[in-house]
Amino acid sequence: LVIASHNAGKVREIRALLEPFGIEPVSAGDLGLPEPEETGTTFAENALLKAHASAEASGLPALADDSGLCVAALNGAPGVYTADWAEKQWFEAQVLDGAGRDWYLAMGKVEGKLAEQGPDVDRRAYFTCTLALVWPDGHEEIFEGRVHGTLAWPPRGTMGFGYDPVFVPLGRQQTFAELDPAEKHAMSHRADAFRKLVEALFD
Ligand code: IMP
Repeated sequence: LVIASHNAGKVREIRALLEPFGIEPVSAGDLGLPEPEETGTTFAENALLKAHASAEASGLPALADDSGLCVAALNGAPGVYTADWAEKQWFEAQVLDGAGRDWYLAMGKVEGKLAEQGPDVDRRAYFTCTLALVWPDGHEEIFEGRVHGTLAWPPRGTMGFGYDPVFVPLGRQQTFAELDPAEKHAMSHRADAFRKLVEALFD
């Protein structure tokens, strides 16, 4: 099984979720597979795009994850553009270690937009994860998961990846970046989508 992702954080989490099933995945990055441009306007479109690209290039079944953070007060933004909000503008790249993605910058952009709505702004948000599994013959399956929570500021914690330092899942005080990875895996959007995949494929 190829994990159709070049995102080290996602690959690490998907590897851990597959471990109990005795599946040793390889990542698209390890195989040197090309990273397709995410031109879709929905999570499902982008997940399918990535899974098809890896399945076709490798001749193996491929699993892709397209995920993002949807903020209630921002009408669901950054949503499908969650990774793009981390992309540095040219003037930011001059002072922030060169071009590429900066997750603290992205978290700051979300907080800035919330702050514009005043101190009583609705801070609810959810992470969503769409998994696409594509077989070499082109057959495709889609599974979706969510985790609801609120946004903290300033960011806290060093574990996880992406927007984890500002996301506090419902019923907890810690952010995803403060929780033990095993605890995040038990409740995350990715785990929720995975449970559905496992029910469909392994049970
Ligand atoms: P994409 O699916 O590659 O378009 O990227 C989605 C982005 O959403 C990731 O690069 C992360 O920044 C963010 N994201 C997705 N899942 C998580 C998560 O579990 N924790 C924190 N950030 C996440």
